[in-house]
Amino acid sequence: MAIPLIISTYCSAGCNHCPFNKAGTKIKNPEINDKEIYIITGGEPLEDLTHLRNVVKQLQSKNAYFRLATGGHIRIASIHNILSNTSNYLGINIGTDILLRNDSTDLQKIWLENWGLYGKLSNTWLTITLSYDIELPTIEKLITETKPRKVLLNEIEDGFKDYIKYFHLLKTKFPLIIFIEGYRNET
Ligand code: SF4
Repeated sequence: MAIPLIISTYCSAGCNHCPFNKAGTKIKNPEINDKEIYIITGGEPLEDLTHLRNVVKQLQSKNAYFRLATGGHIRIASIHNILSNTSNYLGINIGTDILLRNDSTDLQKIWLENWGLYGKLSNTWLTITLSYDIELPTIEKLITETKPRKVLLNEIEDGFKDYIKYFHLLKTKFPLIIFIEGYRNET
């Protein structure tokens, strides 16, 4: 399992469940060890591209590999050259909170553009965070419409009604998609 590398607590998107917001700040020197596998996360890593570039350089200097997790509300194409020219980049995780927990149609439009460009790549994962207030048909509709190759299934902090059951229900309903267990926060 990749180690979370939180590089910022800042995010401008304002998803309704999220502790990260515009009061957050970048984390200047996140601890990076040699040859580990990290997932760069936040807050939103794409909010400060200079900082992200510096972190990627640090990872390269340590021969560490990384995935990048984004909420998808900032154009991923803005960092395309960083990702495509970095040999230790493993892929991108695009979260779905902008669609499930955010009312901004402008941000949702950017999210859909991003998914149109990056969603079909073999190293892109769709991240879905389960919570008690989002019913299974909503999740199924999201998966049917986005058609991901891989889905990382997380669970929100205060727990979910039955993570294992829903994980297996989704695997059964979408047998061609690879489902990956993400973080769990059981009550
Ligand atoms: S995009 Fe992600 S980090 Fe930003 S507010 Fe939404 S859930 Fe939080």
